[in-house]
Amino acid sequence: MSEFPCHSPVDGSELPTIEATCPSTVASLVDRARGASVSWGDTALARRVELIAEVERRLLGRADEIAALVRLEVGKPLEEACLAEVLPNADLVSYWCDAIEELLEPIRVEPDPLSYPGKHGRVSRAPRGVVALVTPWNYPVAIPLRTLVPALLAGNAVVWKPSEVTPRSGALVAALFEGLVPKDVLTVVQGGADVGRALVEAAVDSVVFTGSVATGRTIARSCAERFIPCSLELGGKDAAIVLADCDLERTANGLVWGAFTNAGQNCAAIERVYVERAIAEPLIERIVATTRTLGASDVGVLTTLAQAEKVREHLRDAIAKGAQVLVGGEPEGEANPRAFPPTVLKIEGDAASAKAMTDETFGPLLPIQVVEDLDEAVRLTNASSYQLTTSVWTRNTSRGDAVAAQLRSGIVTVNNHAFTAALASTPWTGVGDTGTGVTNGPHCLTSLTRPRLVLVDTNGAKRELWWYPYTPALRTVAFAMAVVRGGGGLVARLAALPRLVGALVRRLLGKS
Ligand code: NAD
Repeated sequence: MSEFPCHSPVDGSELPTIEATCPSTVASLVDRARGASVSWGDTALARRVELIAEVERRLLGRADEIAALVRLEVGKPLEEACLAEVLPNADLVSYWCDAIEELLEPIRVEPDPLSYPGKHGRVSRAPRGVVALVTPWNYPVAIPLRTLVPALLAGNAVVWKPSEVTPRSGALVAALFEGLVPKDVLTVVQGGADVGRALVEAAVDSVVFTGSVATGRTIARSCAERFIPCSLELGGKDAAIVLADCDLERTANGLVWGAFTNAGQNCAAIERVYVERAIAEPLIERIVATTRTLGASDVGVLTTLAQAEKVREHLRDAIAKGAQVLVGGEPEGEANPRAFPPTVLKIEGDAASAKAMTDETFGPLLPIQVVEDLDEAVRLTNASSYQLTTSVWTRNTSRGDAVAAQLRSGIVTVNNHAFTAALASTPWTGVGDTGTGVTNGPHCLTSLTRPRLVLVDTNGAKRELWWYPYTPALRTVAFAMAVVRGGGGLVARLAALPRLVGALVRRLLGKS
């Protein structure tokens, strides 16, 4: 279909055709998902776990096929596709299958028997019903699985729209669940913004979205209108703060990987480095030297032409504002217009206000700014409207840990960057323009389940203390109780006690 890219960004090879979903059919697919959600939600949790656990084996068994397809559609290196899209997701499936029972375990409620005699209850986590999932193209397997697995285990039906840039990877992920979940419990709709809009505006119970700030804002408005929750994971402009006592080699290696993995098309790519002056020169030398060793097989290509154009624009803007290109630069005469070399920039003066330092680039640019001290680095890091992850690089790990308290971002790593996306048990989340969504970890269950209280009253009394009729005795009980419970000094409390007991007896005997 012309709606989808027909050729691979890697080598222009033809991609298999795939059919788009007609936007007008999305609402009825959601209705069918609702029907299916009821029996799926009623299926014993142990059975759901048993079925979904099989996804891990299928994922690992099809590692070659998945990595090859992701490489063809996105353009990332094969080993990276396996390391980022297959292996952590095997861990993800086993984490959720092991953890879900305990996480969904109802909490018993036993209210104070003096105030609330004969009552007990439980708070459980009920599935939301139908979860709409809308995902981007940069990690077309890992990002959807982070929601699909816990959402299905929790008893929801999911209607999922993969990115129009990576529909084939989407279809392959859906195939991992084939025959495991009943019909209509997982539905894939394919297409672009129109299909996404139709899905979000259909009668769904929750929306989980990962993508751009602009789309996130539209979705947030739409969900607010209907009072349905939405989890939004949006853009990033991650900073790395390098302190003078860092391990130079580890830091340089970590920053280069953090900036250029997936050609920088990572919401948590390092897009700003703030390095203390004392170590700036040797660090920059190492970063440049390491970057020079990278080839196309390490960095991959930019997935879309729009992305390639944006990276060019950011680079030109930075150069116009005085940034110095230390390695890389705008490609010339490349056969593939999506190829872009890993580029390191030194940022001074006006260049600090360049788009490459303020807006999300989502490409292989690594701008480095020298700062006087940690305070300046923290101030600049916190100034960004995006706050996804920040890394601090220092040999003094206690100091690095303490710096976290001064940073606004949702995730802080000391001597590492971004890899926590692969930890299924820890929240992936940000603040500001990054959105407030959470995927991974128990906190993500908020958008996938709702708390439900069931309370059972075994009290045989004909009426509760607080029921009608409202009498003088009840009024005395109420106010004497307030005094006895701390509303007065010792003398007042002692004085209120007989009043309280007397009024209670009158009340129980039905006297006014
Ligand atoms: P995008 O917003 O253009 O598209 C994301 C998805 O939303 C696609 O499936 C698209 O078809 C759909 N969509 C577009 N308009 C829609 C609408 N009006 N209603 C419903 N759906 C709609 O983003 P993208 O270009 O695919 O992805 C890149 C962005 O994703 C970057 O900003 C990146 O930082 C962000 N991202 C964030 C995270 C995170 O965890 N915070 C992870 C990966 C990517």
